[in-house]
Amino acid sequence: MEKFNIHPEVQELFEEMVGLRRTIHMYPEINFDLPITSKLVSDYLTSLNLEVHTEVGQSGVVGVINNSTGPCILLRADMDCLPIEEANNVPYKSKIPGKMHACGHDSHIAMLLTAAKVLSRHKDHLKGSVKFLFQPAEEGGHGAREMINDPKYPVLDTEPLVDQVYGIHISNHGKLGDYLFPDKYVSCFTDFFDIVINGKGGHMSADTNNPVTIGADLILQLQTIMSRNVSNKDRAVISVTSFNAGEANNAVPAICKLKGTVRTFEKNVRDLIFDRITAICKGIEIEQNCKIDFKIIELYYPIENNSECNEKALKVLRKIAPEATRDSVSPMIGEDFSYLTNRKPGSFFMLSTGCENSIHSPSFDIDERAMMIGASFFVELILDLLV
Ligand SMILES: [Zn+2]
Ligand SMILES: [Zn+2]
Repeated sequence: MEKFNIHPEVQELFEEMVGLRRTIHMYPEINFDLPITSKLVSDYLTSLNLEVHTEVGQSGVVGVINNSTGPCILLRADMDCLPIEEANNVPYKSKIPGKMHACGHDSHIAMLLTAAKVLSRHKDHLKGSVKFLFQPAEEGGHGAREMINDPKYPVLDTEPLVDQVYGIHISNHGKLGDYLFPDKYVSCFTDFFDIVINGKGGHMSADTNNPVTIGADLILQLQTIMSRNVSNKDRAVISVTSFNAGEANNAVPAICKLKGTVRTFEKNVRDLIFDRITAICKGIEIEQNCKIDFKIIELYYPIENNSECNEKALKVLRKIAPEATRDSVSPMIGEDFSYLTNRKPGSFFMLSTGCENSIHSPSFDIDERAMMIGASFFVELILDLLV
């Protein structure tokens, strides 16, 4: 780790941080149902003599360094795991069948708890406040939104009022310490869609429309949206990921169901794509004398980084990892940190742990030394902003 300027107090806490991460890794919990993880986090924050709020947004936890003067900076970690069976054979392998911390949220918790411990020692020198936010249900459950809207403790709007928000997601896109740090969008509009083609069904010899061939035609027409309608200056993805119809060789099914996802960065591109899908469905309805139901399931908005917050974060990151490589291409992922950047200026980046398998893989694991970089980032950022 000689290429990195790790904060000395984080370095001292490395073994403890690894222990925290491995304990959390062994007992992964899903969505909002996080009794073990929430308790571990709140007990740890309480042991640091911080102000602690529990059951925020059902199972979120917030630790606060509350100083009456100066700005309030929010640092975020997510706590939920994925419904994946772990394929790694490591001493800290998941003990819960079918559940795994395959998105690195275990390391996010350990990094932020470690940063909270170091900063709690310096709290009398801080000219401002810090909120350490540990959220449930990032993987599709809108946990950040639940914490923002919790009437008991709306995290952004409770004193001390939050001024800026920062977060890190671990990844494996480069060598240890490399970072994916786009200027603007760190994630994209993430939308799902369901399409149901309703025909009549019947004997294969009957004179009826066939939802299977209509579905095949519809998929091909959806592919033309990217080539004919979306400008080549804009990035977008339209993917049909599921096609279900019929069982028998000799019967035309009554329905065909398609599922898919649309990823975009700009709202006008997103609107254009959904208008085109609607128009294509309508055209096929008339042509084929069938009824098509098209439903959009909105997931997350893009995380939009603030340029001033980016500058502050990049300055700290360059100090800690001066030789690391920066990638700035916006990734087509969904992330509910966007609920925070929709409300407050902030910055978010992805920190590579240099390992082989990607997040959401049953073989995902990390080089735990990356957590020293992440925890040092949080510590140095707060010392830079509030001292
Ligand atoms: Zn994930
Ligand atoms: Zn994640």
